[in-house]
Amino acid sequence: MVRKIRSVPILMFMAATILSGCATTTAAEEDTPAPAQSKNTSAPLDGLTVAIDPGHNGGNANHPEIVNEPVDAVTKHKPCDTTGTETNDGYAEHAFNFEIGTLLQAELEDLGATVVTTRDSDDGVGPCLPERAATGNDANADAAISIHADGGPANGSGFHILEPEPIEGHTEEIAEPSHELALALRDEYESIMSPADYIGSDGIDSRDDMGGLNLSTVPKVMVECGNMRNTDDAKQLADSDFQIEIAHALAEGITHYLAESGA
Ligand SMILES: [Zn+2]
Repeated sequence: MVRKIRSVPILMFMAATILSGCATTTAAEEDTPAPAQSKNTSAPLDGLTVAIDPGHNGGNANHPEIVNEPVDAVTKHKPCDTTGTETNDGYAEHAFNFEIGTLLQAELEDLGATVVTTRDSDDGVGPCLPERAATGNDANADAAISIHADGGPANGSGFHILEPEPIEGHTEEIAEPSHELALALRDEYESIMSPADYIGSDGIDSRDDMGGLNLSTVPKVMVECGNMRNTDDAKQLADSDFQIEIAHALAEGITHYLAESGA
C-alpha cells in the first residue's frame, strides 16, 4: 500500500508532464485540488483518509443470534462481533471505544482528514468483522485504526497495540506499513500511559488471528487503550479529561505515521 500511495503523486506528475494538455481527465484532475486549497493551504491531513473502527457496539449483548454468527477471519473462524469488556464499575468498553472514536474523528477532521467510521452510534448491533475491515478497504484509507480497551488480568496494566503478522496472500502488503503505524502510535501513547506489563513487547503485539486486521487491505492496527479489568487503568479510561488525552495521542501518532509514510 505504501508503494501505491507514494506512486500517486509521481504518476500524476508524470501524466501532467508527458501528456501536458492531451487528456482532459488529466487537466480535470489537476484542477480539482485548487478550490480546496484556496481556503486552507496548511491542513496537514488534506487529501488523506483515515478509517476509525470503534470496537463492539451497545446493542451486541441483546443480539447473540447476530454477533455469535461465525465469520471467516482468514486464519480461523470467529464470531461476527463480541460484547467487549467493562470496568468493575460497569463502564462498558463499547461506550469507551465509541467516545474515543468520536473524539479522534473530530481531531482528524480538524487536521483536514476525511474520516470514515464503522459505526455512528453506540446503540446498534455489529457490524461483523469483515464489514469493519471493508470500511477502510472501500475508502482506500491511508491508515485504519480499531479502538478497544482490554479485558486483561486484574493485576496487569498498560496499553498495547495489535499489528497484523504477514500472512501470505492476505496481509503481506500491509504488515510493514501497519508496523510503522503501530510504532508511531506507541511512541505517542506512551507519553500518557505505560506499555502493557502483561502482554506484548514494548506495547506492541503481532497477531495472525485478528479478523479485522487479517481482512484489511490498508495499513491497520488495533489499539487496546488500557486494561479495563485493572483498577488504576479503569479509573483513567473512564475519566473524560484523560479520554481527550487518549484521542489526542492517537491523532498525533496517526499524523506522524502519515507524514513519514509519504502518503
Ligand atoms: Zn474490545
